[in-house]
Amino acid sequence: MKVFKFGGASVKDAKGVRNLVEIVKDNGLQNTLIVVSAMGKMTNAFEEVVAQYMIAPKKTPEKLLDIAAYHLEIIEQLFEPQAQIGAKEQVSAWLEDLKIFLKRNKSPKQSFVYDQVVSHGELLSTQIIQQYFQEQGLKSQWVDARDCVKTDAYYRDANLDWEATKQAIDTQIKKGGTYITQGFIGSDANNNTTTLGREGSDYTAAIFAYALQATSVTIWKDVPGVLNADPRIFNPTQLLLHISYREAIELAYYGASVIHPKTIQPLQRKEIPLFVKPFNDPKQKGTVITKGHPIVPQIPCFIVKQEQVLIELASRDFSFIIEENISEIFQLMHQYQMKVELIQNSAISFSVCVSNKYGRLEGLVNALQAKFNVEVVVGVALYTIRHFNQTAIDRIKNNEKKILLEQRTQETIQFVVASPAVD
Ligand code: ADP
Ligand code: ASP
Ligand code: MG
Repeated sequence: MKVFKFGGASVKDAKGVRNLVEIVKDNGLQNTLIVVSAMGKMTNAFEEVVAQYMIAPKKTPEKLLDIAAYHLEIIEQLFEPQAQIGAKEQVSAWLEDLKIFLKRNKSPKQSFVYDQVVSHGELLSTQIIQQYFQEQGLKSQWVDARDCVKTDAYYRDANLDWEATKQAIDTQIKKGGTYITQGFIGSDANNNTTTLGREGSDYTAAIFAYALQATSVTIWKDVPGVLNADPRIFNPTQLLLHISYREAIELAYYGASVIHPKTIQPLQRKEIPLFVKPFNDPKQKGTVITKGHPIVPQIPCFIVKQEQVLIELASRDFSFIIEENISEIFQLMHQYQMKVELIQNSAISFSVCVSNKYGRLEGLVNALQAKFNVEVVVGVALYTIRHFNQTAIDRIKNNEKKILLEQRTQETIQFVVASPAVD
């Protein structure tokens, strides 16, 4: 079987859904599993629903009206008037169920509520697309990913139960058919909905591919493939034609947000090729990620992570920052859910660049201050260049006047800079 994944940008409007169908038809409907994200920016919209609900749990969140209107408009542009009725009813029914959940919910846990709510983006998009397949006379089967992707109960960032998932997928998906399912969502042992972390639909595609021993995965994007930098930030950029699994994991790890970092490993284990192709020019070759040479062409790759925090710790009495302190520092990072991006230490100082994803910086800094002199610089950017050369280094250094930290290994150079400029 082959696995196709369509992200939010590819199905943001009726034109996008039509294009999806054309791409699937051109590649042969049979033996295809289609993983789809929420339409456009709907995941952000559902996040607002959660925020409104946490502030005023007794009120129906207003944002749900925008969400309903957005989907209904797509339906109106996609279907003939008669066929609109069924699709609209489906959308309304899902949203009604969600309102009932919010009314009855007793759990104060925001992460739990988040997953029950935000998962609706994918549930709605796949329902609409399934209906459209039917209307076009194309045979397809809608699959609830929550019956397939089994996870622990770590809401918002659930971890996969591979054994249970493999078994569930084996019973749900049979070779030969055309299946439409949701990215990003799964369920725990109690069948509560879980999510795999923002942008997790690529990972879903890899999970299904692994379980099904798929022949390939193709993720359809709004870019020509994997480029040597994010075109929203760098100009010019170049297309990478081939990337090894190992190099792709490195790029994703450093923050090349075109592929979710967890996507590669399951594919690498079964040597399933991953294609990244443009949905608006589907005949293009794009990028292929398989075994072999690290990157073709061999050029420097630029990655930037914005909104980082640089924390500099120094011992109070010129004593060494020894292993014991380091393990304590890491424990605190873990406790306050800081993602550590880069570390550098000397005898009496320790610098760490972190992502403050959950807004818990103040607590962390207070805890660290009990033991160290602490300096914090917020809003820094972390630049990484893989396969760097002097020209690539100059490209960053000539733009960025205030480099706070630099770290270099054979293949990779990183800079923490104070006030990022755009290239
Ligand atoms: P999806 O629609 O699947 O969610 P994303 O928006 O997550 O797609 O990923 C596509 C975006 O990733 C592109 O629009 C681009 O701005 C960004 N991006 C970041 N790094 C790269 C890179 N190295 N190559 C191509 N695109 C990149
Ligand atoms: N819809 C989810 C998000 O926007 C998952 C995904 O698109 O990959 O994060
Ligand atoms: Mg995305």
